[in-house]
Amino acid sequence: MANCEAIIVADSANVRLQPNTTSGVVGVLTLGKRAPAHQVTDPDAQNFRWVRVTVPANGLQGWVRGDLVQLSGDCADLGTLSTTVTPSNVPTSTTTATNATPTQPVVLTGDCQAEVSVAAANVRREPSSTGGALGMILRGTKFAVKSVSAPDGGGFCWCCLDFQGQIGWIRQDLLRTTGDCLDPASHETTTSTTTTTTSTTSGDCQAVVGLPQINVRAQTTSASKLVGTATAGETMTVKEVTAAQADGFRWVKVNFRGQDAFVRSDLVTLIGNCAALTGDDRLAAPVAATITQGFKAGHPGMDFGATIGMELRIAAPATVFRAHVCTKCTAQQPNIKPKNEAERNQIFSDPGWGFGYGNHIIVRHEFQDLPRSIQEQILLNGGKTSNAVFVLYAHLSRMDVQVNQKVAAGMVIGATGHTGNSTGPHLHIEVAVGDQWGTAKKVHPMILFAVPNITT
Ligand SMILES: [Zn+2]
Repeated sequence: MANCEAIIVADSANVRLQPNTTSGVVGVLTLGKRAPAHQVTDPDAQNFRWVRVTVPANGLQGWVRGDLVQLSGDCADLGTLSTTVTPSNVPTSTTTATNATPTQPVVLTGDCQAEVSVAAANVRREPSSTGGALGMILRGTKFAVKSVSAPDGGGFCWCCLDFQGQIGWIRQDLLRTTGDCLDPASHETTTSTTTTTTSTTSGDCQAVVGLPQINVRAQTTSASKLVGTATAGETMTVKEVTAAQADGFRWVKVNFRGQDAFVRSDLVTLIGNCAALTGDDRLAAPVAATITQGFKAGHPGMDFGATIGMELRIAAPATVFRAHVCTKCTAQQPNIKPKNEAERNQIFSDPGWGFGYGNHIIVRHEFQDLPRSIQEQILLNGGKTSNAVFVLYAHLSRMDVQVNQKVAAGMVIGATGHTGNSTGPHLHIEVAVGDQWGTAKKVHPMILFAVPNITT
């Protein structure tokens, strides 16, 4: 199982808390990224299979839609993940160019080469969007074009290629053709559309199209007026993400070629600053500061590069479990840097130094008081084994609360500092799931807090 990997074949793919398109996002994987795959679901109501993966950047587990990945390696135990898009699982709003009468291919006179210019292109059995697909090939893949079809009912020409020993067809507008691609009938160069497929990486929230083609609508229903179609790799600025509509889908309000329009949220991947739009209900980061050290072996928490005196505001109701005063932390010497392993161990067992944490507060959140997406993420990462989630705030300069005190969301509990085993002013937090602080399992703080993703 450990040797099976999911490789992303869309420009980017959301990794979600639950195997459905309305669930919160725990990570984003971009084209070509590999993630360990653990499980494949049966098709859901929309006919999508989902793959449970571990996001390499943050160690979190989540679900990615099966049509956005290819499985590679020893994946037999996981069950089928057909990457073949058959008409039955093409999303209903995807435009399909119907083509009742098969068109006669144009035979090319010389060596015509093509390269896939979008994130991923389906290889069809017939020169038609409605035919079954043999598979998918990625951006940059080059192949020899055997022939080009006449335009189909939707106005698309199709390029014929050898695909894994079979004859396959790819829509010509998804390719860049080079070489001798003269059409002997007209003796004109076959049209090669150069679609711009650069994905934006600006801070704004962007919707990226991963499927070959999706419909853009005037309103938030599949029955509303068709504004146009967006093709694979196209990027649109997101203005809003709706709640689930009557059809069960959320809709994304985008700027589509200069006008406001809507696309179904499951047909696009959102990248950039989207948390506020997607209703990610994880808690706000405890301080507005950059992450200086991530959650990893030997560091079961996360560090924020906070200056001294930044107020810590609690974001969900809690009870103060511990408010430990560092008795050895003085104004002259608020912190200590161990010289060796033995001294380090000594500090970590010394309550006088706050067990290395200096002045520190541990609060206990009751499971049922936490937002739904956090509950889902805890269930996904090891299951719900307790009724509590603890959060430790370390190296504080000030503590405003006492043990057993109930704190309401929004209350200030203390301020950041530089006490205990600390090499510079910063906030160290730990998040643990369990009934007792001492035995609770340390989990990634991103499960609780919507903080920027980091790779350290
Ligand atoms: Zn730390």
